[in-house]
Amino acid sequence: MNNIFFISPSDFNADDSVEIKDQEALHISKVLRHKIGDVILVADGEGARFEVEILEITKKLVLGKKLTTTCKPVPSKKKILALGVVKKRDRLEFAIEKAVELGAWEVVLFNADHSERNKINKERLDTQIISAFKQSGRFWLPKLKILDSMDEVFDKFQGSNFLMAHVEANEEHEPSELKEENNVLLVGPEGGFSVREKELHLAKGGSLVTLGDNRLRAETAAMAFLSQYLFIK
Ligand code: SAH
Repeated sequence: MNNIFFISPSDFNADDSVEIKDQEALHISKVLRHKIGDVILVADGEGARFEVEILEITKKLVLGKKLTTTCKPVPSKKKILALGVVKKRDRLEFAIEKAVELGAWEVVLFNADHSERNKINKERLDTQIISAFKQSGRFWLPKLKILDSMDEVFDKFQGSNFLMAHVEANEEHEPSELKEENNVLLVGPEGGFSVREKELHLAKGGSLVTLGDNRLRAETAAMAFLSQYLFIK
């Protein structure tokens, strides 16, 4: 499989030349031992991916020239995962990695009423998102937002279709097709959603969704939820 490298759109020059710096340059030159003339894949995280021919290469800088461009449009139905912060860091990171692989447009972590507050290292999570983005060959880099409460999720995503995975939902609430442009999939933390959060969600016109009879851990629920809409573009 071809490795994909990520550089931000500002590192592409107007004349079709590309500058790859720092960690990515080190990886290309030292780890993968690419040489002048090799062609690598570079994604900008904003819908475009390029074949780039290497013109110059050192540990610190790889200079290349764009050969071809492939673009993917913005999906017409975006899936935004809003996950209540779970206490265990490894489970949280796992959930985020899988959300990227499964096509989340954006990941929102919020302090749910039943979340145990602990500090989130956003930089670390951003790095993991980039790594999952490259690994899974996506074209659009998912954004990560950290919000203080579910109320803020509603404020930020006003006008979206809100779907809440809830253990009390039943067969009447099986996942159905996504109809809106922006769809926020809400998953609670270990302690589940509070009554207040459930009521707020319903008051905002949101619907409940069941993910089956078994009680899933939050990270499993996030994966199961996103997997319902794998083929929705
Ligand atoms: N102890 C909690 C369970 C939390 S599970 C409770 O009893 O409410 C963590 C989250 O995963 C839940 O808040 C919900 O969003 C989701 N979830 C887990 N199992 C689910 C199921 N069978 N159907 C829908 N959502 C589920």
